[in-house]
Amino acid sequence: MIYFGVDIGGTGIKVGVVSPEGKLLHMDSAPTQAALGYEVLAADIAALINKIMSEKGISLDEVGGIGLGCPGSIDDKNGVVIYSNNINMTNAPLCDEVKKHIDKPVYIGNDANCAALGEYFALNDSSIEHMVAITLGTGVGGGVIINKKIYTGFNGVAGELGHTSLIMDGEQCTCGRKGCWEAYASVTALNRDAIRAAEKAPESQLAKEIAANGGKSNGKILFGCAKNGDETAIAVMNQYAKYVAAGIVDLINIFQPEYLVIGGGVSAQGDYLLNPIRKYVSAETYGGSLVKNPEIRMATLGNDAGIIGAALLAL
Ligand SMILES: [Zn+2]
Repeated sequence: MIYFGVDIGGTGIKVGVVSPEGKLLHMDSAPTQAALGYEVLAADIAALINKIMSEKGISLDEVGGIGLGCPGSIDDKNGVVIYSNNINMTNAPLCDEVKKHIDKPVYIGNDANCAALGEYFALNDSSIEHMVAITLGTGVGGGVIINKKIYTGFNGVAGELGHTSLIMDGEQCTCGRKGCWEAYASVTALNRDAIRAAEKAPESQLAKEIAANGGKSNGKILFGCAKNGDETAIAVMNQYAKYVAAGIVDLINIFQPEYLVIGGGVSAQGDYLLNPIRKYVSAETYGGSLVKNPEIRMATLGNDAGIIGAALLAL
């Protein structure tokens, strides 16, 4: 038996063949025709699945089910996308529409929640009951596993961990609110802070590399300069680690998960970024060393987490 996991993004649809052990066996993708509505999206998803089935010689009998990971507010019980701004869908019965093309059980979940589920499965330890996953990228996404299940709230939109308040009336967030954790802990925020610091220290290596990159910063420049001993870059990195850690402390105080997993572009930094985060977290978590602390680690599945997690909905 195999399962199809579908990662629906604003620009592309990725479909993966996933084994019952949660291994990604094969993947293909197609552009998302976001403006054409959910019927076209469902037909495109089905066409991509059919293409993979014929190429790989997979019969319909071998397919256990299809899982869809989609950004936005999802009614997972009824298989409906309530609202997704970047794919232009409102109250779209996407599961039923896909089922019209391929007669198999179809499930749906929020994409960040699917990624969290994928990372939970990748821990490969059935004794773990609670886990929080965060993704530090353009924004800050997240997913919460409670009692081995994704927690979605009564309306399917729980787990928006990036839009918790870090600094009252602070930096403008994309959601309309000010001072969200995302406005400090996303890679977008890290780049902004690197540029600001470089402006104040024009002689720093960070400032020179940003200037050479057309005034834009990125993780490679910032962490590269910090590893080279550039004090401006090190200060930006330490402040960033503190912002990330502050939000993690809140999540640990609320959920007390066994694991907290960090995904997204910064996860490539490994212990270089994790160690300062761990230091701040262990100093500030409620109960300190008197209680067992959750293990903080980087995600392992990278961009495949969403596809694998979506397939796991069907599994
Ligand atoms: Zn926000």
